[in-house]
Order: sequence, then C-alpha cells, then structure tokens
Amino acid sequence: MSQVPVETTAALLREGVERLREAGSETPRLDAELLLGDAVGAGRTVILAHPDAPVGADAAARYRADLVRRAAGEPVAYLRGLKEFYGLAISVDRRALIPRPETERLVELAETEVMHRLGAGSRPSGTPPLRVVDVGTGSGAIAVALATVLRQRRALAFVEIVATDQSDDALGLARENAVGHAVADAIRFERADLLPGPAGAAGVPSFDVILANLPYVRHDAMPGLPVAASFEPQMALDGGVEGLDVITRLLARLPAALAEAGVALLEIGADQGEAIVERCGETLPGWSCLVERDLAGLPRVARIRRG
Ligand code: GLN
Repeated sequence: MSQVPVETTAALLREGVERLREAGSETPRLDAELLLGDAVGAGRTVILAHPDAPVGADAAARYRADLVRRAAGEPVAYLRGLKEFYGLAISVDRRALIPRPETERLVELAETEVMHRLGAGSRPSGTPPLRVVDVGTGSGAIAVALATVLRQRRALAFVEIVATDQSDDALGLARENAVGHAVADAIRFERADLLPGPAGAAGVPSFDVILANLPYVRHDAMPGLPVAASFEPQMALDGGVEGLDVITRLLARLPAALAEAGVALLEIGADQGEAIVERCGETLPGWSCLVERDLAGLPRVARIRRG
C-alpha cells in the first residue's frame, strides 16, 4: 500500500532542530540532518539539496522515533549505528565506546611509525613481520583503520596485528568491523586484560608497536561528561582517581611486552601531558616519554620507549 507523502524534508528538519535544541543538544542541526538522512535512506547532503522533497510516513515516523531517543541524550552514532573514523564507516553500538576524532591522531602516528619501521625498500624474505597490538580495541576502530591504510599502502603483508579487549561484547563488535572492512584475516582478536598472556608470565610476546586508547577520564569528572557518554560503557572511559590507573597498569607491563627497540603510543587526555611524563618516570625509570600534540595543539599521545 502506498502512503500519501504529506511532509517535506525542510519541514521535518526544522521540527527536529527545534526539538533537539530545546533538549539541549550542542549540535541540533547536524544531528537532525544525519537522522533524517538515514531515515529516508539518502544521506545528509541529498536532504540538504532537496528541501521540498516529500518524505513518506514510515521515514518520518522513524525519524521522529530517533529524535525522541536523541532528545533523551542517546548519541547520534548509536542511533545511526555508525561513526566516521579515519575515512571509514565504523559500526558502533552500546557494546563499545564511540570512536572520537582525536583518536585519529593515534592512528596517524601509528601509520607513520609502522611505515618508517618497515623502511622504504623491499624486505628480504624471512624478515619477521612487524608486531603491532591495539590494547583495549573496543569497536576495533584503531586496528581496523590501521589495517585498512596499511593495505592501501601495500604494507599489510609485513605486519601482524593483534587487538585485545577484556569485553567479549566489544570483541564481537570489533570483529564485525574487521569483516566489514575486509581486514578480518589481518587482525587477531584476543580476549585479554590489556596484553595477551598472563601478566608477568614468561613467553609474553614482544610487540614492536603497542597502541592504546585506554580509559583516561578522572573518576570525579565522569558525571561532568556530556549526557551522551552515559550511554557508553563506563569501563571504556573511567580511568580511576587521576585518570591514569589503567594506563599505569599498561606502563608496568611494557618492559615484558615491548620489543627492545619498540614503541608504545598511548592516547591521553589534553590535560595529562605532564602527569603521563611523571608517571612514566616513576613506573619506567630510564625510559623516555614524549608527548605528541593533536591538530588543536593539545597533548594527545604519549610516545614511550626504552632509553
Ligand atoms: N576523549 C574521550 C572523552 O573525553 C575519552 C576517551 C578515553 O577515556 N579514552 O570522552
């Protein structure tokens, strides 16, 4: 049965923007455009280009249902089931943290690091692969983005990527993303508390590059996060009293897990530049810790190595 369309994209957008503004969204227009774009199955740019286009009743109903959930604070990315990250559409849902734009900096540094380590020339056969681990992979965004870009650069065959998480739910989502981007054969997913293998056990593998976006929000700052964050797994955000509890646990395991000339690239909060250097000094005496900045010039990634 066909239904008579009675509403236009422009009118529905106006309604949505108003509703979300009242509800306190910081980005009411963008939210409404994305949700309406998904509801009509056309995308945001098409919506904007056709303000007078009629919208069917089913699409309008779906859009309004999404507006209700968004007005209650649910993140747009969960409503859409996807988030753009490093040029990829990453599937997201409540099983894992939504990838943040600032984490693209970590992938960028990882890409540069891996390409640099592989060197410009060809690798003699028999050279062992470069071993990379994404600790606390969550949605798999970092591992999948890195694998995808390395494949584009024809470097994926020389790299072994492991991605860990302590949440089976997150690992399930991460695997879906790896399959969705055709890199499932290049990433080994392992359930682990930080690194594979029991802490301190002999035979813990040596990684050349350790990547992590671990929880680093100070516990007392958790209630101050945007409402949307309350829909995300708290264990992916809450970094304990000073925000560095989980990162510090990883630091303590680096001597056993990092190859002699390896490097760890760890995302940190913009206000944790000094704290991470101090924490490294205490936990890893004699090691070096440099803080890389993001596009906004803020501390964002700690680069840690021996000596
Ligand atoms: N940047 C995130 C936020 O402020 C925190 C991510 C994390 O703890 N790793 O919401």
